[in-house]
Amino acid sequence: MILNPIAWPNGARCACSISFDMDADSLIHIAKPRDGFNRLYPITMGRYGPTVAVPRILETYRRLGLQQSFFIPAWTMQQYPEAVEAILRDGHEIGHHGFLHEDPTTIAQPEQRHWFERALQVHQRMTGRKPTGYRAPVYNVTQGTVDLLVEHGFSYDSSLMADDIPYLMKTAAGELFEVPPHWGTDDWPAFAHFEEIGYMMPVRSPSIGLSAFFEEFEAHYEAGGLWMPVWHPFLTGRLARWRLVEKFLERILASHNVWFAPLSEIVAHVDAFRRGGGHVRVENLPYYDGPVALMTDRGQAASPL
Ligand SMILES: [Zn+2]
Repeated sequence: MILNPIAWPNGARCACSISFDMDADSLIHIAKPRDGFNRLYPITMGRYGPTVAVPRILETYRRLGLQQSFFIPAWTMQQYPEAVEAILRDGHEIGHHGFLHEDPTTIAQPEQRHWFERALQVHQRMTGRKPTGYRAPVYNVTQGTVDLLVEHGFSYDSSLMADDIPYLMKTAAGELFEVPPHWGTDDWPAFAHFEEIGYMMPVRSPSIGLSAFFEEFEAHYEAGGLWMPVWHPFLTGRLARWRLVEKFLERILASHNVWFAPLSEIVAHVDAFRRGGGHVRVENLPYYDGPVALMTDRGQAASPL
């Protein structure tokens, strides 16, 4: 099913990496800049992530011997230093996830650069190193984001959706890997209900919502792919959902030939595989130089209909 499967370490059938985006209450502050600070229900819904869910998740990982990846907005790192310290203490990876979860498609390039680089400084100060991985808030990467990642020497992005397994993105200035997510492996559609940011979905039961992720795992296991859920501590880290995830992890670790690793390690492996002659698919960027829409003489988009 996958035409260019990657040979995983020690003959593993499938690579696995659970990626948690620990947004916490950054979401309400960026969505409601004037009064988000005084909306206590969404603040508390977000705070549940670093204060209750992350300790629970880390305990499971310690017990099962897993090291995984967390993407955290820099403001959230500053706001919840104990969660950051606990994540680092257990050897997990922390990736760049914006400063205050600002959406790159909604701000001008100089502003994007400002917040991107300010977030980098927070990472360096709090973790002692530059992150090697990035995930855009709301997956909203622009060409300018890719250029910033290349300029700052990132080894991978994990926001774009052009394949099932990692691929290489090349630009005139350089290259970086993409570890592709998609909405079918994100927990927002199944579990998020957040009227303040215009996201109202019928919340699924834990077993129905999570079964989609488990079916994704089975497909990747069969095809030799990479299973990478995009979860949020305040959603999938809730009690009943995490209980099912724990049981699932216990089962596949005992009965399946899988390789769990942080995304940075998976990307390093894919890079070594490519340098050893393995086939990794390439996407050349930018995709387009300008608008594809039909334009009028006055530079306005014209309806093709
Ligand atoms: Zn996020």
